[in-house]
Amino acid sequence: MSIESNLKYVNDRIAKAAIKSGRDANDIQLVAVTKTIDIQTILTSIDLGIYNIGENRVQELQGKYQNIDRDINWHFIGRLQSNKVKDIADKVALIHSLDRLSLAKEINKRGRIIDRQVPVLVQVNISKEATKAGVYEEDIIRFLDNIGSFKFLKVEGIMTMAPHVLDVEKTRPYFARMQKLFQSLSDQNYPNVDMNYLSMGMTNDFEVAIEEGANMVRIGRAIYDRPKTQRR
Ligand SMILES: *Cc1c(COP(=O)(O)O)cnc(C)c1O
Repeated sequence: MSIESNLKYVNDRIAKAAIKSGRDANDIQLVAVTKTIDIQTILTSIDLGIYNIGENRVQELQGKYQNIDRDINWHFIGRLQSNKVKDIADKVALIHSLDRLSLAKEINKRGRIIDRQVPVLVQVNISKEATKAGVYEEDIIRFLDNIGSFKFLKVEGIMTMAPHVLDVEKTRPYFARMQKLFQSLSDQNYPNVDMNYLSMGMTNDFEVAIEEGANMVRIGRAIYDRPKTQRR
């Protein structure tokens, strides 16, 4: 399969899922996840209309950032070590993986140095799996309170990864809870918080995620044919 036909198929499925939830394709942002994908292939996908690129490793993002001179948005979606914040804070349109207070402090500190309000999503560990990062659902209000005075970061929404299951329908309750959380946080007026993005849904489960309210999906394999066994 070519990237072109993969992308057509993905966009088609996004549009159908959006319609199912009473929206249209334009309401859903597609972040193409390019980890392990080479620069030439990424450029091909950019020529086909991709303008949001997601990477989960700092070094890989830095390398690709230097070599891809296009007007695109870089997203950081992986676990972020505090000492690496300085390497990406000036490059990324969105960090999806703010999962702890110490990291928020570091992003804020770096933001102050470069005089930039760094856009972030709070990662929520909705399934409470030990292997997953993220703030627990019941702790998120306290978390937002704690970072409310951090002027050099801006919370733009929340992100999650659903459990990896064979029966994709089993992810639905998790996505539905995220949507509820997103809605209730949108209804509050927390300082420094604008609930713009609900980032959830990957190759395995993006249609269910969209049906349950996602407006940003992060898709790699379905676009680039990256083998399933490679690192997530
Ligand atoms: C790899 C990754 C994705 C994309 O996964 P695919 O199965 O390739 O679609 C999405 N989000 C995060 C955080 C990832 O690490």
